[in-house]
Amino acid sequence: MRAGRGLLIVLWLVGGSACGGGLTPLPPSTAPTPIERERGLPASTPTARPAVAGPLETGVSEADLDALWARALMVPVAGMPPTALRNDYDARRGARAHRALDMLAPKGTPVLAADDGRIGRVGTTPIGGNIIYATDPDERFVYYYAHLDRHARGLSVGDRVRKGDVIGYVGTTGNAPSTVPHLHFQVMKRGSGRVWWDGPAINPWAFFVLPGASTR
Ligand SMILES: [Zn+2]
Repeated sequence: MRAGRGLLIVLWLVGGSACGGGLTPLPPSTAPTPIERERGLPASTPTARPAVAGPLETGVSEADLDALWARALMVPVAGMPPTALRNDYDARRGARAHRALDMLAPKGTPVLAADDGRIGRVGTTPIGGNIIYATDPDERFVYYYAHLDRHARGLSVGDRVRKGDVIGYVGTTGNAPSTVPHLHFQVMKRGSGRVWWDGPAINPWAFFVLPGASTR
């Protein structure tokens, strides 16, 4: 019994010296809440839905924002944390408002699915270049990815994707400046009927919870 207690003290001393003086205990508030643990979110993620700056577009409701927040979006560029995102949603792009976020990254950086869901369009347009439209699992939202250098090999309409799946690579196709490779990413509410891919936009800037991390 006495020998056992001595061993514990030795272990504590060894451990203490190995850790050095720089370590301080984590404050209790950074422990994950039950909801964060359930969703696999990092500790201290705010669980209250953030506000959206500016007026909502016609057809977008507060309930839509709650639903988007519940998706716990991933930043769709590999290695990019939410804190790196610039809010250029309201910037002017020529005669139009941007209504999207530009995520600058080296050409060839993997572009990741921001959410689980289904691929709705894979193609090339004069403005967007190589583009992808995808939906969330409930098909309430549409995610638009543009200026891709290329699509992921074999990506097809109807494919199911999981958050973090590589769906393409950052590039400068379409009307992107050739010296500024970036992902143009837009969130829309699903439009009705034939133009399901062109519903009212939502500023997703404050709605990213997870850093971009590839599933493969
Ligand atoms: Zn853009």
